[in-house]
Amino acid sequence: MLDADAFRRWMAAAAAAVEREAGSLTELDAAIGDADHGANLRRGFAAVAAELAKDDAPDSPGAVLTLAGRQLISTVGGASGPLYGTLLRRTGKALGDAPEVDAAALAEALGAGVAAVGQLGGAKAGDKTMLDALEPAVAALAEAAGSAGPYAAAAAAAARGAESTVPMRARKGRASYLGERSEGHQDPGATSSALLFAALEKAAGEGSRG
Ligand code: ADP
Ligand code: MG
Repeated sequence: MLDADAFRRWMAAAAAAVEREAGSLTELDAAIGDADHGANLRRGFAAVAAELAKDDAPDSPGAVLTLAGRQLISTVGGASGPLYGTLLRRTGKALGDAPEVDAAALAEALGAGVAAVGQLGGAKAGDKTMLDALEPAVAALAEAAGSAGPYAAAAAAAARGAESTVPMRARKGRASYLGERSEGHQDPGATSSALLFAALEKAAGEGSRG
C-alpha cells in the first residue's frame, strides 16, 4: 500500500529525474519540436516539489496528485503542462481521499487520468506522444497488480513504450508538422512519461530506476 508520503516521494523523485534528464529531454525535443520539453518539465516539477515540501502539504495520495497537477498546469506553458497536469489531477480525483492505495486502485485511477489526456489532446496510441508510454504502463500496472513487483512492471512497460515511438510518424503536437521527418526520433513526452513511472517504482521501494 502507498500512502501520502509515498506519493510525495514519487513527485520528488520525478522532479529529481526531470532535473537530471532535462538536457536529454530538450535534445529529443530539438530534433522534432522546439527544444523546450526539458525546461518546461524542470520548471513544472520544481514548482511541484516546492509546493509539496511545505508544512501544510496534502495528506492523502489523491490530494498530493491533485495539487501536483494544478502546479503543472499553472507553471508549464507548453503542451505538456496541461496534459501532464490533467493526468495527475484526474488521477488524484479518482483516488478520492483514501489514505492508502494499492497497485490495482492506482492503475484504475491512472486509467482515468490517461483517458483524460487522450480526450484533451485528441491523440491515441501510435500517434507518437506521451500516450505511447502511458497506456502500456497503466496496462502493465493493472496486470501486475497482484504480483510482487507491479511498479517495476509498469516502469519497464513505459520504457519500452517510449522506445516504440522511435519509428513512428507524429500525428499530434508540434512534431506532427514534420510529417515523415519525425520518424527515427524518440518522442520527448513519451520519454518523460517513462521517467515518471521509473520515479514511481523508486518511490514504491521496488527498484533502482528513476
Ligand atoms: P510543446 O510541444 O508545446 O513545445 P513540450 O515540448 O513540453 O510542449 O511537450 C511535447 C510533448 O507533448 C510531445 O513529445 C508529446 O509527447 C506531447 N504531446 C504534444 N501534443 C500532444 C497531444 N495532442 N496529445 C498527447 N501528447 C501530446
Ligand atoms: Mg516543445
